[in-house]
Amino acid sequence: MTADPGIVIIGASLAGAKAAQALRLDHGYDGPITLIGDEPHLPYQRPALSKGYLLGTTGPADLDVLKPQFYADHDVALALGTPATALDLDARRVRLADGTEFPFTQVLIATGARPRRLQVPGADLDGVRYLRNRDDSEHLAAALRAAGNVVVIGAGWLGSELAAASRTLGNHTTVIDPLPTPLYHVLGDQIGGLITRRHRDHGVNLLLGDGVEAILGTHSVEAVQTITGRTIPADLVIVGVGATPNTELAQKAGLRVDGGILTDEHLRTSHPAAVAAGDVTRHQHPRYLNPVRIEHWHNAVTHGAVAAGTLLGKPTTIDPVPYFFSTQYGSTLEYLGLPTTWDRIITRGEHADHGFTAFWLDHSIPVAALTIDNRGAADHLRTLIATAHPADPQQLADPDTPLLDLLPNAPSRTW
Ligand SMILES: Cc1cc2nc3c(=O)[nH]c(=O)nc-3n(C[C@H](O)[C@H](O)[C@H](O)COP(=O)(O)OP(=O)(O)OC[C@H]3O[C@@H](n4cnc5c(N)ncnc54)[C@H](O)[C@@H]3O)c2cc1C
Repeated sequence: MTADPGIVIIGASLAGAKAAQALRLDHGYDGPITLIGDEPHLPYQRPALSKGYLLGTTGPADLDVLKPQFYADHDVALALGTPATALDLDARRVRLADGTEFPFTQVLIATGARPRRLQVPGADLDGVRYLRNRDDSEHLAAALRAAGNVVVIGAGWLGSELAAASRTLGNHTTVIDPLPTPLYHVLGDQIGGLITRRHRDHGVNLLLGDGVEAILGTHSVEAVQTITGRTIPADLVIVGVGATPNTELAQKAGLRVDGGILTDEHLRTSHPAAVAAGDVTRHQHPRYLNPVRIEHWHNAVTHGAVAAGTLLGKPTTIDPVPYFFSTQYGSTLEYLGLPTTWDRIITRGEHADHGFTAFWLDHSIPVAALTIDNRGAADHLRTLIATAHPADPQQLADPDTPLLDLLPNAPSRTW
């Protein structure tokens, strides 16, 4: 009888390491596990890369997904520093760039995403940077300290955090985005407008409704020219215009891919030997009609646990309410939900500052919420959104009504 080759995980980061942990600790799986990663580092967490790690307040050890000894203690084999380049799902083998091959019974693909590249003249000049991994963050930390004029392209979550970090380090900071407000697609006009004010209050030169025409310079970046004709001096340009899922390996292996590896709500792909997790997936979600791609820490952690069950033939379902956190200018912003439509926004507080909460309602049902520096609120907001019960707008708006009192006792809608 041949020995079971076990489970191979491609992508040694958050979703992959969390899956390995759940396989060993939650399910008591005792077969072989191999974690393959193209980066040389043990699995680490990315959120601090645009915040504390960049600012020097978070050290390398704080980034670990699992304690370094976990892998040896729990017999998880590591193959780090070399990418997987070929995946044969029918033969159940994966090959790395150096020719090493690993057989498997089941494979988990957790290859994450990479920054979308800026396609304008001058985008390849020295001083134009992207941020995805630990090495990027270390280089950027040095560059931000040497810079005086920083231009951030893109006012999404990452761009907002980078602007905050740049200002904290004392740089003249300009943010350019074609949309009317930061985070416009997520927050809309009204709340996006409050976020605009936060950036401006912290001294950011926020150029909205404008785009990048070209990056100017001879060898290194010297300025950014915008579509409306402005020229902004820059010795560092940081691009945060979204991410592209790393689906090439899966696609070449014949898996169904459409803006991410397509999976069901148990993270099963179109091949029975393969499960996918984290940023690389576009998965069915019990709460939403169309498959969703969610690039958040909480999603990758949840996916790790769900994937472990599915790999072992014990599928559970993905957590219903997406959750994202961010730190900007010393405040913690937490956003819950993924609404496609809403017809009303209720706020607790007028300014997007400490204690502020916004609720997005669809036919009086809270479908999303943003809260700032409200410790413990996220759990209540998650329940509020998950139960999908109509809420009283006056109570939502009233800061003296505890969030706990808003949670419905009525039976919840099933999704
Ligand atoms: C700078 C930054 C800040 C963030 N801040 C926040 C935040 O504040 N809040 C929040 O909720 N989320 C945040 N996120 C998002 C969060 O970090 C991601 O959702 C999470 O890392 C996704 O985990 P993952 O394991 O799916 O993918 P990843 O973390 O991208 O890991 C995938 C791994 O697979 C590797 N890989 C790719 N292809 C191959 C291959 N062929 N062979 C081997 N290995 C391969 C990649 O190099 C990588 O190491 C942030 C992300 C970044 C980049």
